[in-house]
Amino acid sequence: MKVKTNKHSWAEPYKIKMVELLKMTTPAQRKKAIATAGYNTFLLKSEDVYIDLLTDSGTSAMSDRQWAGMMLGDEAYAGSANFYHLEKVVQEVYGYKYVIPTHQGRGAENILSQVLIKKGDIIPGNMYFTTTRLHQELAGGIFHDIIIDEAHDAANLHPFKGDVDVNKLEGLVKEYGADKIPYICIAVTVNMAGGQPISMGNLKTLRAYTQKLGIKIILDMTRIAENAYFIKVREPGYTQRSIRSIVKEICSYTDGATMSAKKDALVNIGGFLALNDADDYEEASNLVVVYEGLHTYGGLAGRDMEAMAIGIKESISDEHIKARIGQVIYLGEQMRHLGIPITEPIGGHGIFIDAKRFLPHLNQDLFPAQALAAELYIDAGIRTMERGVVSAGRNAKTGKNYYPKLELVRLTIPRRVYTQAHMDVIAESVFNVYCNRKKIKGLTMVYEPKYLRFFQARFEKIK
Ligand SMILES: *Cc1c(COP(=O)(O)O)cnc(C)c1O
Repeated sequence: MKVKTNKHSWAEPYKIKMVELLKMTTPAQRKKAIATAGYNTFLLKSEDVYIDLLTDSGTSAMSDRQWAGMMLGDEAYAGSANFYHLEKVVQEVYGYKYVIPTHQGRGAENILSQVLIKKGDIIPGNMYFTTTRLHQELAGGIFHDIIIDEAHDAANLHPFKGDVDVNKLEGLVKEYGADKIPYICIAVTVNMAGGQPISMGNLKTLRAYTQKLGIKIILDMTRIAENAYFIKVREPGYTQRSIRSIVKEICSYTDGATMSAKKDALVNIGGFLALNDADDYEEASNLVVVYEGLHTYGGLAGRDMEAMAIGIKESISDEHIKARIGQVIYLGEQMRHLGIPITEPIGGHGIFIDAKRFLPHLNQDLFPAQALAAELYIDAGIRTMERGVVSAGRNAKTGKNYYPKLELVRLTIPRRVYTQAHMDVIAESVFNVYCNRKKIKGLTMVYEPKYLRFFQARFEKIK
């Protein structure tokens, strides 16, 4: 074994204080469970899952300090002390002026979309996110993807596949006019592209370009600490900078943000909307009482806001984020070593298996990524999810399926939850399924819900 110095190791900057026991199941039990779940991993019972990589959303392990903070919950209806703590942390860490808590990220997306979007507006974004785009559409907006082409190619090694193609944005401005574009929505890191970061250079260019046109930049800051880490290790001039300072610089080029604190901010529930404009804030803090609750709790208990405030501070520690992404890269490198086709470069929050290359015998109408996620569950009880044609849904106007270039299975790694040995088991199981891939058959969709169909759709195996 090669001895590594501490300088290069990604080892965890914490130790385990409490454990949750897992149920072990047999392949026969799992075959039955996934069939009952309509071959949709979202419909499995969590007790039937061994390693749960469905999502990194709300699945993090909180620290002892966060749990201690829960005991300091000030459950007043209005003006909770925990709200003022959260507000102070958001102002200090991210630099935004106004903060409105929401029950989770989509609560903030709903309010933001209603405040900023008029019917027929164009909302450019660096690839779509499911709930974000839906709220834009429900508010009357039309989403346009302006991410660089490299992001749609799972094998392309571009270091910042989250970057915006400024020519595409210019094209939209020419076609529709800047006054039809209230803001551009910028995600850090881009979930649907495989957790790929945007560069600071690109953000600066966007700021300069949009400022003169009066177009705002709204950040989807769900995974901002992970994006900051990639800037630190990949972008010239940032190696010596702290994650904290990079995070603050990212926010400085934007006018506001929606946050799902269930991801980077290490809580099981919560989110917020952050804004710099006083008028936008006034409207948003009025709307939040319609959908979430008073503007000083937004659908959260005081204790949840306290855990969030503490989690935000922990999330921007250099040691934390190095270990977080170190574990993801450890798993990705094992898979690459075994010849599994994955999205590269390896992203921040998980490994994305390229189902098109894994199952070349299945076309997209046979839902290859959905089928593969089901097989992975049967093999060793590992729960993953589809990010392909099922997640992409249908065009709201034409009713036709979107056929995304990327047909992926996402293995999302919860923060501070699983060990290195778990990572080894995952790689071994994926390899086992890979060896038997030719036998995997496609699926047909037998039930399709109207909104965000990937959550509740049901499938049957093709005979
Ligand atoms: C999870 C997520 C959201 C939505 O947040 P919820 O807390 O699930 O409502 C928005 N954007 C991105 C990039 C996400 O990953």
